[in-house]
Amino acid sequence: MSLREEQIHVMFLPYMAPGHMMPMVDMARLFAANGVRVTIVTTKMNAIRFKNSIDKDFRSGRNISLEILSFPSLQAGLPQGCENLSSTTTPEMTIKLFHGIGLLEPQIKIVFQQHRPDCIISDYLFPWTVDVAAELGIPRIAFSGSSFFNLCVANSIECNRPHDLIKSETESFIVPGLPDQVKLTKSQLPDIVKSKTEFSDLFDKLKEAERKSFGVLMNSFYELEPAYADHFTKVTGIKAWHLGPVSLFNRDDDDKVQRGDNTNVCERSCLNWLDSKKPNSVLYACFGSLTRFTKDQTVEIANALENSGFPFAWVVGKIVKCKNNEEDEEECWLPGGFEDRLKESGKGIVIKGWAPQVLILEHASIGGFLTHCGWNSILEGLCAGVPLVTWPIFAEQFYNEKLVTQVLKFGVPIGNEIWKVWANEESPLIRRNNIERVVRLVMGDGDKAMQMRKRARQLQERAKIAVEEGGSSYNNLKSVIEDIRVYKRATEKVKEIEGNHLIELEKPQ
Ligand code: UDP
Repeated sequence: MSLREEQIHVMFLPYMAPGHMMPMVDMARLFAANGVRVTIVTTKMNAIRFKNSIDKDFRSGRNISLEILSFPSLQAGLPQGCENLSSTTTPEMTIKLFHGIGLLEPQIKIVFQQHRPDCIISDYLFPWTVDVAAELGIPRIAFSGSSFFNLCVANSIECNRPHDLIKSETESFIVPGLPDQVKLTKSQLPDIVKSKTEFSDLFDKLKEAERKSFGVLMNSFYELEPAYADHFTKVTGIKAWHLGPVSLFNRDDDDKVQRGDNTNVCERSCLNWLDSKKPNSVLYACFGSLTRFTKDQTVEIANALENSGFPFAWVVGKIVKCKNNEEDEEECWLPGGFEDRLKESGKGIVIKGWAPQVLILEHASIGGFLTHCGWNSILEGLCAGVPLVTWPIFAEQFYNEKLVTQVLKFGVPIGNEIWKVWANEESPLIRRNNIERVVRLVMGDGDKAMQMRKRARQLQERAKIAVEEGGSSYNNLKSVIEDIRVYKRATEKVKEIEGNHLIELEKPQ
């Protein structure tokens, strides 16, 4: 930074869900590491998840701090401490959490008005931040938690509505106008794409806010999806800076262990177990922070992993609770005797609660990743250079699956065809035989597995280069910071000219 360059102040507003918050906190820390003054706005229980890393950055001389909001638990009808989408255990609680986050709006506006930063980087799920930024005369940049590919698919489906011509839920169709032939079925599309839902108005607002923004920040890298990065800008005209994969910013083990939540307790025992396994032999299975399976589906997964013939580390998520006996259901559930058998056989480990995912994936013993296709998980699997078994459930996960299996070709689908936010008793079961078959295909040493492993390694290399000095993401980070600085100078210049003009007018003639 030259002496003339005054430090710019950027405020980050992440959404209260791990898949949004974690990459945004990584980005905020990246900005601070590059000389920007950074403030992250969030609530107390969310701040606890990453406060240690921020304190560490601050101690090392970076200008980074937190602005803590108080979450309206009582007004939202939520138990104290439930401030993140990953903490909800029923769909009703999730709705209340959305409502609670909505209630934060006036508090957040006051914080922005008091600080008057030079730029707001807001999760795209807070569309109203575009108006706050306009009032303050500063740019608003949206953080889109997904890939260029996803944005291009979603845009094409919205504009062309190819599914309207198709009656059957299971017949596949080609998404028009994309650089590759991408096939989807109607049953894999989010509900909101097919019909109006209670979220339709919000989605319209999100798109409008994105168009009015200064640009979007992407957790991706150019070499991963060049055709889609170009296509996105060409089709939408929206400026995009890709800074990813931002998880690679977590270089030391402390950062990796604490990333997203510092409550995990299994790191040592888990690493010891992985150390005892051969390189590339272990399947890591995790379905992100929001997926909930039924007990029946959990039984199928448990049996498949146990019988697959490959060692596994499985992060057992929460199960869907039945409405009637909400109180007495356990959050994490496993079939009787399963854990004891594993202890005896050494075939696998289960992790209940938060796993240090990046640390585990990087371990030399990991040879494949069974994932729900959340965008962060895909990037983290790719950064570890391992092939994927893809099991999308909802959100944009089916689109992400197509990028992995049809375009980049480093994963095999498990065969889930139905988009559903949370599984319920009517959701189709993915049977153990099917799971076992795909796990063997990806973890084995057949030609297909070898090719996928090779491609995963190539992508891993490209990802590393992208974030290193001179790489595409590194350069984009420098560009976005410079663009914010130029915007600031330009508005100051305008103010100066306007000020002089007023003085001229006020001068006695
Ligand atoms: N994650 C983790 N430990 C867990 C579960 C999830 O570290 O036990 C992290 C994972 O590394 C990823 C994020 O949580 O960075 C989940 O984001 P993703 O986009 O993959 O899925 P989502 O949770 O949003 O569905």
